[in-house]
Amino acid sequence: MSDAPGARPPSHGYGVCMCISLLIPVLLAAAPRPNIVVVMVDDLGWQDTSMPFHETATPLNARYWTPHLESLARSGMVFTNAYAAGPVCTPTRTSLLTGQCPGRTHITYWTLHRDQDTSRKRDRLAAPDWNLNGLTAEDTTLPGLLQDAGYRTIHAGKAHFGAHGTTGSDPTNLGFEVNIAGHGSGAPASYLGTHDFSRAGKTGKEGSSVWDVPGLEKYHGQDIYLTEALAQEVLPELDRAVADEQPFFLHFAPYAVHTPIMANARHLDRYDTLHPREAAYATMIESYDEALGAILERIDDLGVRDNTIIIFTSDNGGLSAHARGGAPHVHNAPLRSGKGSCYEGGVRVPTVVTWPGQVEPGTRSDVPIVTWDLLPTLLAASGTTIPGDHAVDGRDLTPVLTDQAGDFPSDRVIGWNQPHQWGAPGPGIEPFTSIRKGQWKLIYFHDGPRFELYDLDADIGETQDLADLEPQRVHAMARDMQDWIEETGAQLSLDTSTGNPIAAPADALASMTP
Ligand code: CA
Repeated sequence: MSDAPGARPPSHGYGVCMCISLLIPVLLAAAPRPNIVVVMVDDLGWQDTSMPFHETATPLNARYWTPHLESLARSGMVFTNAYAAGPVCTPTRTSLLTGQCPGRTHITYWTLHRDQDTSRKRDRLAAPDWNLNGLTAEDTTLPGLLQDAGYRTIHAGKAHFGAHGTTGSDPTNLGFEVNIAGHGSGAPASYLGTHDFSRAGKTGKEGSSVWDVPGLEKYHGQDIYLTEALAQEVLPELDRAVADEQPFFLHFAPYAVHTPIMANARHLDRYDTLHPREAAYATMIESYDEALGAILERIDDLGVRDNTIIIFTSDNGGLSAHARGGAPHVHNAPLRSGKGSCYEGGVRVPTVVTWPGQVEPGTRSDVPIVTWDLLPTLLAASGTTIPGDHAVDGRDLTPVLTDQAGDFPSDRVIGWNQPHQWGAPGPGIEPFTSIRKGQWKLIYFHDGPRFELYDLDADIGETQDLADLEPQRVHAMARDMQDWIEETGAQLSLDTSTGNPIAAPADALASMTP
């Protein structure tokens, strides 16, 4: 540091001013880079918290208990229009790592085994030639760039970035120095340590399963819930990074609240009036919150909270089409439908960002943001450069976070592309492309094809399809959608009668209009 030009004494009379200007970059460079924590809860719906992300608290908010998330929210910014990159797991998780939308990566559906297409069959449509394997060791990733920049990069929990049998199934091939219990599967065989987190332990069947959680052998046979074990494993990693005076990037991704819905018995008392499945689900929610609390407490105890960015979010909307208690498709109300769907219940997620000194505590933003914004935001915050040959779809959210949202476009096009049939039936669960622009959302259903248009400001529940009433807007947005498809290279479903992709949206609309 003493050799830095700005640290030399001025040798000229005008040197005071020059010296200050030269010192500024030195001081900036010397500022400690922020630690980064991304909490990516699995399948966490927009209502799966005790704090409202809607204008008012809902009955579902009253059902759940997440005091640590509430505390986090009080110290940062709550995003009411935050979105997952897709309505299922792998597309969003890989979007976080790449800063690219799934339309561009062609990781438009969830992965499991190498070269295996997990899409369900559908009459008239087939999935395009999508990336069946997810990310590989060759891909540019957020943890890889941070690791190169000197960060200790720690993954804990569900990875699901790449298929079993490929390099991407192991987070340490994707830039994470530490991998706690992550691999190619998107769900645990069991949440219970008494089951060894395995199928054999849960069912008594012999042999291993692809769903068995790896790497937590020391908890086998113990009375511990998976989310608790993951938090326990993370804390010493934080200690080590701080002791080594190394900035850290923690990606904490509890397998919860994904299926199998299994209760954490320690929390059941609070929910004894609920349907048993919903009581179990509520304990999974309380468990992620308890883990969040443990991590926040350790960050506080280590004295690094003031220099830590914390982002809390989810990889898709809450499960509602099957496996839940009560009527289906209403577990994200007032949003429509849930995981797997093009509707808001499938993609709108709870999101909180804290960043002491930058984000004003107790603030809310209604600016639409999406998973792929996080990479450019976090790289900018850490002073890390994005390689010139790596396309990024996201935008640096710093203007929004620092209350300079006037410098940020509120009406940019955010696009989703899922040319796949998901596993359970329900509203909006079919192959689609959609865009949000300002308050408006246009959905292009690949089967038909057909369009729906919603005004999300007036109708967050997507109950009134305005496509017939607003033909001009449908035309303009279909053009926007087609431009977005061409820009990103997003793939449309194949027409099984021809083997070719269906018509692009503006072209399809032109052929539908007399
Ligand atoms: Ca998920």
